[in-house]
Amino acid sequence: MAHRPDGSPIRLGVHVIRGGSTGPTLYVHGGIHGDEYEGPEAILRLMSTLDPADIHGTLIGVPFVNPAALETGTRKGIYDQGDLNRFFPGKEIGYFSDLLCKLIIDEFVTRADYLIDIHSNGENLLHLPHVLYVDDENDAAAMSLELAKAYGTSLLHGGPAWPNVIRMEAVRRGIPAITPEIGGEGRMREGDVQINLRGVRNVMRRIGMLDGDYEQLPDSYTLIRSHHQGEYRNARTGGLLRSEVKLGDAVSEGQVLGRLVDPLGDVLEEVLAPQDGVVMGMRTKPHTLPGDWTYFVGRIVGTADKLNG
Ligand SMILES: [Zn+2]
Repeated sequence: MAHRPDGSPIRLGVHVIRGGSTGPTLYVHGGIHGDEYEGPEAILRLMSTLDPADIHGTLIGVPFVNPAALETGTRKGIYDQGDLNRFFPGKEIGYFSDLLCKLIIDEFVTRADYLIDIHSNGENLLHLPHVLYVDDENDAAAMSLELAKAYGTSLLHGGPAWPNVIRMEAVRRGIPAITPEIGGEGRMREGDVQINLRGVRNVMRRIGMLDGDYEQLPDSYTLIRSHHQGEYRNARTGGLLRSEVKLGDAVSEGQVLGRLVDPLGDVLEEVLAPQDGVVMGMRTKPHTLPGDWTYFVGRIVGTADKLNG
C-alpha cells in the first residue's frame, strides 16, 4: 500500500475464501491495534481449516490490518503514532492512518455485507470477554445485536457510536458490524483464541454462510450500555497501581477501585468507580502514566434471550 524510506513495500496479508455456493460476504479482521493477537491467530487458523465447499458466500480475512502497528507490536502505528480506530473513514491525502483507513473502507468494508472487527485489550489491560455493538442507528444496528449474540459471549456491550470508529462507519453504511473484545495483556491464550474461532463460525451460521448447529451459545445474555462519558476511568496522575477489585466484581459509584502510589508509598490518587456496575475491564500493568486507562465499570441495563435457530 506504500513504501518505507528504504524502498521496502508496506503490505497487508489478505485471505479470501470463495465458497462453493452463493451467499453473503463477511469481512473479518484483527490487529487494528498492534498489541492484540488473539483475533489474528483465530483468523489465520480459520483460513487454513475452513473448507471452501462448506461455505455459502465469500469470506475475506485480514489477520493484521494495521502494518504500522504490527511493526512495533504497539497499539499505535509507527509512522504517525495514530490510534487507527480513531481515523475512520480515512482520507485520500493525510496521515498514514488516514490512508490506511480509506483503503480498509474502499477495499474491504464496501465489499462486505457484514463485518467483524476483532480486538483484545492490548498489552496493559484485561477485559471480561464481551462484544461491542452500536445500538442506536438503524436496521444494521438491530442486526448487529444478532451477530453479537451469535459470537457467543454472555456479556454484550451496546452503546451509541463513537466517532471515527470502524464499527460505526460500517453501520452507517448499512453493514451490520461487531467488535469482539476477547483477551488482553498482549497475550494469545488458547481459550481466547477458541472464543474467536467459535464466534466467527457462529456468525457465519447466523448469516447463512455455514450449515450446522451453533457452538456453545449462552442461554441468556447480560446487556451493558455505555455512553462513553467516563465509564473508562482515566488516571488523573501517574504511579504504581494497586487494585482493590478484580474482574467481574460488582461495585458502587464512588467505591475505591485502586490506588496510585509513588516511590515513597504515598497515595497520589484513589481511583473511584464512576458509576454502579461491574468491573468489566482493568489495567493489570501496575505502571501507569497520567491519563492512562485504569478501570472500565459497565452498567447492566437488562438481559436478552437466547439466540434462536
Ligand atoms: Zn483494540
